[in-house]
Amino acid sequence: MTRRCPCGTGRGLADCCGRYHAGEEPPDAETLMRSRFSAYALGDWPYLWRTLHRSHVDRRGHGFSSWAEHVAAGSAALQFRKLLVIATAPVDHEGFAHVLFHADIREGKTSRSFAEHSRFAHDGDGWRYVDGVMLEDPHVPRPLASLSLQRFDEAALG
Ligand SMILES: [Zn+2]
Repeated sequence: MTRRCPCGTGRGLADCCGRYHAGEEPPDAETLMRSRFSAYALGDWPYLWRTLHRSHVDRRGHGFSSWAEHVAAGSAALQFRKLLVIATAPVDHEGFAHVLFHADIREGKTSRSFAEHSRFAHDGDGWRYVDGVMLEDPHVPRPLASLSLQRFDEAALG
């Protein structure tokens, strides 16, 4: 039996995010974002580290092992249930591609769900996660499916 990819495309892991976890570079920021969600679900810390942009705050003052220990401990009790990519925007004049997504995450019966406007940059090798603005689920404007990057930013940044 083929394992379904945690990112929710309905495809098998090997035909979806698994190939990126195995070393292929995702072709665009949305695909990278999906593969990072899957990597969280699977506990693939080396992949998450490799796809963090060198300017990301977690790269400062951390080596891989201390970072991985921290992320593994923070994620141990979480179930990564569902990913919804809501909106994307192509590369802007600063070189960032944008993805707005909602992640359905539980810790036991408690919701840890959130939405995030993430920014990604290509570092010459591949797409990398730079940073993001996050809203916890109760603060995310509804309906999710028609949320725009602009409306999310207005809600997040005031
Ligand atoms: Zn996938």
